[in-house]
Parts: sequence; structure tokens; C-alpha cells
Amino acid sequence: MNDRHRTLLELDARYVWHPFTQMAGWLDDRPLVIESGEGAWVVDADGRRYLDAISSLWTNVHGHRRPEIDDAVRAQLGRIAHSTLLGLANVPSIELAKALVEVAPPGLEHVFYSDSGSTAVEVALKVTYQYWQQAGRTEKREFATLKEAYHGDTIGSVSLGGIDLFHKTYKALLFDSYKVDPFDGGESLERIFEAHGEKLAAFVMEPLVQGAAGMLVHPDGFLKRVRALCDAHDVFLVCDEVATGFGRTGTLFACEQEGVAPDVLCLAKGITGGYLPLAATLFTHRIYEGFLGDYGEFKTFFHGHTYTGNPLACAAALASLRIFETDGTLERMGPKVERLEARLQALRGHEKVVDVRQKGLMAGVEVGPYPPEARMGHHVSMAARDKGVILRPLGNVIVLMPPLCIELEEIDLMMDAVEYGIATVLEGR
Ligand code: PLP
Repeated sequence: MNDRHRTLLELDARYVWHPFTQMAGWLDDRPLVIESGEGAWVVDADGRRYLDAISSLWTNVHGHRRPEIDDAVRAQLGRIAHSTLLGLANVPSIELAKALVEVAPPGLEHVFYSDSGSTAVEVALKVTYQYWQQAGRTEKREFATLKEAYHGDTIGSVSLGGIDLFHKTYKALLFDSYKVDPFDGGESLERIFEAHGEKLAAFVMEPLVQGAAGMLVHPDGFLKRVRALCDAHDVFLVCDEVATGFGRTGTLFACEQEGVAPDVLCLAKGITGGYLPLAATLFTHRIYEGFLGDYGEFKTFFHGHTYTGNPLACAAALASLRIFETDGTLERMGPKVERLEARLQALRGHEKVVDVRQKGLMAGVEVGPYPPEARMGHHVSMAARDKGVILRPLGNVIVLMPPLCIELEEIDLMMDAVEYGIATVLEGR
């Protein structure tokens, strides 16, 4: 490590409090200071290149420094960097809202912007709650979600969550939600709707894959079943596609694969191609209409973040959407998904591998069983880094979520590194 890199790290350790990080051991974890990137690669302050196998925490889609997105942001900088959506409108946020409605599942017609996945979900929560209160159905004030759910870190989104390690500390601050197990053959789903359906404002879920829960892939047809029960009990279906959205599962949005259109769609992360913080919560006209009225009725949605609809972020998002067309990103995914599948296949049945899960270019290799404090997923990921691949596990699950622009030989490199990590750390080879 060169002197500059070391100095930067010392400054980092002194001044920066990292998210989801035990800072007492931060420097022991050999962190890297990333300085640049290109395509599916990032480069540290020593000039060393690493394959970004987690898409800079599930955000990057078409690669780092994509000229089209760089140019769009630069062009927007030449006009204006920020202007508010409170009382004013701006050009890129209008164009993006139209573009999102055009590609979203049918019926989603109105876009509310915010700036992170957590706020996208928070907005969905508050809007669905307020809708029923204003509609005179005041009993509809509860929420159902999935076991092991993760929807963000704000208090509302944590209330929907069910990952003990992250969420149990805050228990006293949270409201309760009903938890459905997607793997019990529909038993808890039916039971909860039967018992509480009339009181539910919304069912909130990640469609197809629960990312932060450890890349849990739902049984086929589960989402459709939830949709049917939501319809039967007049409960809004909120799909959180913060992780699954923008092509990760092989279609632009995961819910398309079951032909399901939610009432509310939460988007963030990949929306800007991984460039800038932006989120969007899309709503049906029925929900939007429930907020219309005379000023004195106070049906306004009193919620808004300062950087809502930021023009630079919206310009990046528009450029990223255009690349899906010009690159044929989704059309080109097939062989990549197959290559990943073939390479993952080799790990199935491995003595130290409990399970291998994949949907599109989202995958998880679960090793173990090991206690969480053994940090085996972390150690395997660190070994993979020695082979030039950046991974960040979720407990014992080695998460693979490369940018969609990854090439076949880069998938091989990624999987070689995972195999190397498993061999060195778990088999002691
Ligand atoms: N929802 C899902 C499904 C997520 O995976 C995440 C983040 O990983 C979030 C919400 C929260 O997003 P953010 O970290 O941008 O607040």
C-alpha cells in the first residue's frame, strides 16, 4: 500500500463512521480507498483494479463511467444542479416520471420522488396508510410483510423489517407488522389474510427475491398468490423493487415475471444506473385520486425531502433507461445468467455449501453452518479480494450481484475468486 493510500485510510478511520460497520475492527478488515472505476471495475488509491461483483452495493447497472450517463449529468450541470419540487417543477424530473410510467407494470401512473430505498418505502407506507384514513376505512391501519424482510433503515421501513440482527435493538420504537413465511406453502399467508385482511392497509414485499435476507428466492407463483389475496381483501400490494429493479432478475422489474402489477412500486438503487441518490415510489391512479380535494380538506400528502426530484439524478436515470434500449441490456443477459448458473452449479453439493440461490444476475452462495461471529462469509470475501474481486457477504451468504454489463469472462473471474475463497478459508487449502 502506498503512503497516500495509507494516509487516506488513517483519515478515514479518524473521521468517517461507516454504515453497518463495527468501527473498532475497521482497519483490521483491510479496507480499500476507491478512487476511480470503469465498466465493471473499481480502482483503489494504489491503482489496483478490482471487479465490482456487488455493483457498489447493488446500484451500478451499465458500468462505472458510462459515457452516456457521464455526458447526461455533465449536460444537466450546464443547466442547473438542483431546484426544488416544492412549489416548482423541473425538466428532468418530468421527463423521468413519464419514462418510468411507460416502462412500469400497467396501472402505475404517478411518481413520487425521494432519495433512497428507505424513503421510497417510507413514502409507500405513509401514502397507503393515509389513503385508507381519508377513504373512511379507518380500520385499515396495519401492514403485513415477509419474514426476514428488509426494507431500509428508517423507523417506518425498519418496522416492516424482520432481520433480528439489524432490527431488534429498535423494537420499542417500532410498530408491529404481520410476518408471512413465503416458504410454508401459503399457510401463513392465508392465515394472516383470513384473520387480519380487513384491517390491512398494505402488504409490502420484495417480489421474487428477498435480497438482504440472503438472496432468498420465492417459490414460483407466490407473488401471484399475494396479489390475489390483496385483491380479495382490498389490500394494497406494495412491491419493493429497490434491489430487484432495473434488470437484476432478468426482466426490468421482477414482478413482470409473474404478470403481477402492484398498486405501489418502490424504486431506488439502480434507478440512476448507480450514479446518484434517487428514489421513486409509483402509485396507481386510484391511490393518487384519494389525495385530491379542496385545500381545506387537508388531503395533501405532507411529505417531501429537500432533494426530491434532483435534476442531476433524474438526468442520470433517464440516460440509464436509454442504455437499456441502446445496449439491449436485458436481451443480452441470457448467456450471462446461464454462465453464472453453470458456475454456481459446480458449488452445489460442496461439503461447505448449504445452498445456492439465483435469479437472473442476483445470486447467493450460503456456506456453513457457521455462527455469525465467526464471520465466515466475510473471510471468504476477503480471500476473493486477493484475487481481485470485491464481495460483501450477508452473514454466511456470499452475495453475487454484478453490474448487468459484466462480460462472460468477468463472470468466470468472479466465480474463480469465490471458489478460491471457499477453498482457502473453508477447506484450508
Ligand atoms: N429495500 C430493499 C429491498 C433494499 O435492498 C434496500 C437496501 O438494500 C432498501 C430498501 C433500502 O435502501 P437504501 O439503503 O437506499 O435506503
